[in-house]
Amino acid sequence: MTEVSVAKEDVASSGDLVVLKSVNKHFGALHVLQDIDLTISRGEVVVVIGPSGSGKSTLCRTINRLETIDSGTITIDGRPLPHEGKELARLRADVGMVFQSFNLFAHKTVLENVTLGQVKVRRTDKKKAEERARALLDRVGVGAQADKYPAQLSGGQQQRVAIARALAMDPKVMLFDEPTSALDPEMINEVLEVMQQLARDGMTMIVVTHEMGFARSAANRVVFMADGRIVEQAVPEQFFSNPRSDRAKDFLSKIL
Ligand code: ADP
Ligand code: MG
Repeated sequence: MTEVSVAKEDVASSGDLVVLKSVNKHFGALHVLQDIDLTISRGEVVVVIGPSGSGKSTLCRTINRLETIDSGTITIDGRPLPHEGKELARLRADVGMVFQSFNLFAHKTVLENVTLGQVKVRRTDKKKAEERARALLDRVGVGAQADKYPAQLSGGQQQRVAIARALAMDPKVMLFDEPTSALDPEMINEVLEVMQQLARDGMTMIVVTHEMGFARSAANRVVFMADGRIVEQAVPEQFFSNPRSDRAKDFLSKIL
């Protein structure tokens, strides 16, 4: 077959939502992402696991363009990530991100936290944005907290607000970087349940987590990283029962 340029519409309508090709990233001498090839389909839930320092957070941050890459390409819904400007802000809004630390605006109420981005980036009318914010807060079970400030909420509640805030931008894909790692144990499930529901509703998700129960029940695919590389990937049953690489066997023996 000859190389032909494919019209944007054709690419956008294909099943591939997030595509990384030969992505490389260094921090000084450290080669933190090494030739990463990763394709995530619409509606797919991919759980990324691997030892600390393997590049999982950096991977998430490059997809949201919080980090630049040295070489390779990243496309979201068929469009390459632009370098800067309004277009970047828009594309970044297509990628919702939830961090380990909840990163809510401390001096804004819960409702304002979930309303602001809609008004500023999506140019949604304030009233509509607030209605949507309330609906989303209800959906993640914190509707009653709308007028409080983040510090008045538990960690689990704050993280659910962070999820609602990301969803308010109507993202095409949601990235979660160890969303439950900073939570007290009794709050982990309330956050995982919201994520489970989101997965069932068909959201495309990339989730870095050590919660293997979540990986087993929600993931379509497990991606195992070590030393900046994707070492192996498989459906959860296969990965957990029959990991192929020594690195994955070693990792699983330590956490399971
Ligand atoms: P993981 O999330 O898998 O624990 P990270 O992506 O956070 O891994 O980090 C991968 C490697 O890159 C680590 O060795 C880390 O110390 C290094 N690193 C991460 N961010 C930076 C940075 N901003 N500057 C320099 N080194 C970094
Ligand atoms: Mg990390």
